[in-house]
Amino acid sequence: MTKPKAKTRASLLGHLEARLRALGVPSPAAEARVFARAALEETPEAFFARLAEPVPEAARGRIEAWLARRERGEPPALILGEAEFMGLPLKVRPGVFLPRPETERLVELALNAIEGKPSPRVLDVGTGSGAIALAIKKARPDARVFASDMSEKALELARENARALGLPVEFLKAPLIAGLSGLDLVVANPPYLPERYRETAPRELSFEPEEALYAGPDGLAVARPLLLEARRALVPGGKVVLELDPTNAALLGRFALELGFREVCTLPDLARRPRYLLARAPAAELAGELGLA
Ligand code: SAM
Ligand code: GLN
Repeated sequence: MTKPKAKTRASLLGHLEARLRALGVPSPAAEARVFARAALEETPEAFFARLAEPVPEAARGRIEAWLARRERGEPPALILGEAEFMGLPLKVRPGVFLPRPETERLVELALNAIEGKPSPRVLDVGTGSGAIALAIKKARPDARVFASDMSEKALELARENARALGLPVEFLKAPLIAGLSGLDLVVANPPYLPERYRETAPRELSFEPEEALYAGPDGLAVARPLLLEARRALVPGGKVVLELDPTNAALLGRFALELGFREVCTLPDLARRPRYLLARAPAAELAGELGLA
């Protein structure tokens, strides 16, 4: 394989951008900057201040190896081992789901749901890299944040991220609600793709663990039992905030209503497809409060 011909950082950037554009990546210029800075291990300021300087051979070799992986469709975050989520630098690696921009909106909705509630008990189901749980703990240090997952690889990475960021989250290797109760908020980006999606899935999904993506023939194999368990684990008035597949928004909304959730609504993502489900557990019945139930 030929090394990039570029001799200076400026020409390296141009070369990288052209190669990435030819691959059809969505933002070639931005991606070129990210790869170039990472190869030279420099901050943006240092990199741009030295644009006329030569690029060491080792950095050019690194970039060529990354480009080869990018050509095979590997996502840049996985190549560099790092992703940014809600401004938090997260370590990522193969075998654990990469945090997505649409999940940042989920975190905003989750934070709204506990606004004004002092020291809330929060659970992130299927935490993956820890993205949601850590972003919530960062924004709400007073919250007691739990996070569950079934994947040992995910929990190991999530714990590393928590340690590196100094954010105490309680990680549990257990399915769904992990036997917790008295929760003020259950938030999750569960696996939600219907199995049939596999046939037409974009190439980058082949780099993700299957158990993070697919949820049975209808995509509801995790979300349904999750809602059912959340109904029992939430305090009266507690909230659930889920990310979902737009084709399932109506079905899952109806299921939430059947379970007795109130204020059930779906909200759109940036592409205006219904992507999030919000629901509130009913307030305690007066009879229950008085011990008459
Ligand atoms: N929350 C992370 C995020 O948004 O980036 C990861 C979400 S990923 C789509 C789904 C995660 O759920 C995976 O880490 C997977 O291992 C986990 N998972 C799948 N089934 C589960 C279950 N029954 N209970 C708990 N976690 C589960
Ligand atoms: N948002 C992912 C995708 O469509 C799917 C994630 C999930 O199943 N939670 O690529």
